[in-house]
Amino acid sequence: MVDIFLQTQKITKEFGKLRAVNEVSLEVKKGDIHAIIGPNGAGKSTYFNLITGYHQATAGKVLYKGKEITHLPAYRRCNKGITRSFQITSIYPKLSVYESVLMGLLAHRGMTLKFLSSAHKFFKEEVWRILEDVGLANQAHVSGDSISHGDKKRLELGITLGTEPEILLLDEPTCGMSPEETESTMIFIRSLVEEKGLTILFTEHDMSVVFGIARRISVLHQGTLIADGTPHEVRNSEEVQRVYLGGTA
Ligand code: ADP
Ligand code: MG
Repeated sequence: MVDIFLQTQKITKEFGKLRAVNEVSLEVKKGDIHAIIGPNGAGKSTYFNLITGYHQATAGKVLYKGKEITHLPAYRRCNKGITRSFQITSIYPKLSVYESVLMGLLAHRGMTLKFLSSAHKFFKEEVWRILEDVGLANQAHVSGDSISHGDKKRLELGITLGTEPEILLLDEPTCGMSPEETESTMIFIRSLVEEKGLTILFTEHDMSVVFGIARRISVLHQGTLIADGTPHEVRNSEEVQRVYLGGTA
């Protein structure tokens, strides 16, 4: 029981007549790299939104470290360490890479832009450490909207790290990246788990990435969990082969 970190119990989300997530019961273990896979429209993003609090569940429960959080607002879940990556492109496009990470640190501590200049002194080391971690130190003073797509995704990760997450939910973290960017991002994500003790729950459409990094894989199909296990177990599941992988993994 002790190592069950995050758990959903028959969590369900309906949008009108559509049941996007259908009674999904799942456990995420501390320190795991856990992938949620499934075709487009399977309910992956909706499932993440139920965990982070961006959607209210129609039925079912979300538990974190044994406590129910089903109805907590998103910011309270974030304060508990459940964080999803932010969409930098839509939040602070005019700030530099450095300032964006600083803003993430401030926002998490309930501070606003007017603290920016004093915060700079206070958080300087932490911002540089994060920029080094995500490989953006050499672009610290470039504006956030002029860096490459792959670097934006890494900046999103950097901002997210400023919120001191315990479990990080990454919805297609390598979407739109080149194969090289994808590989370095996945290596970085693995290092977060191995060196910082984070837990990662992620979705990804590239099966080579999923099978290369995930230690546990859960498969959604039309909102329903159809498989859950090690990569080996999932790869060999007849149901998964039939409805999803089709022999490609
Ligand atoms: P995935 O991330 O696996 O591609 P989603 O969770 O985005 O799937 O979507 C699951 C289903 O729920 C889809 O049919 C989608 O159209 C629907 N859906 C997602 N978000 C909403 C919403 N806010 N309102 C209505 N329908 C939605
Ligand atoms: Mg999605």
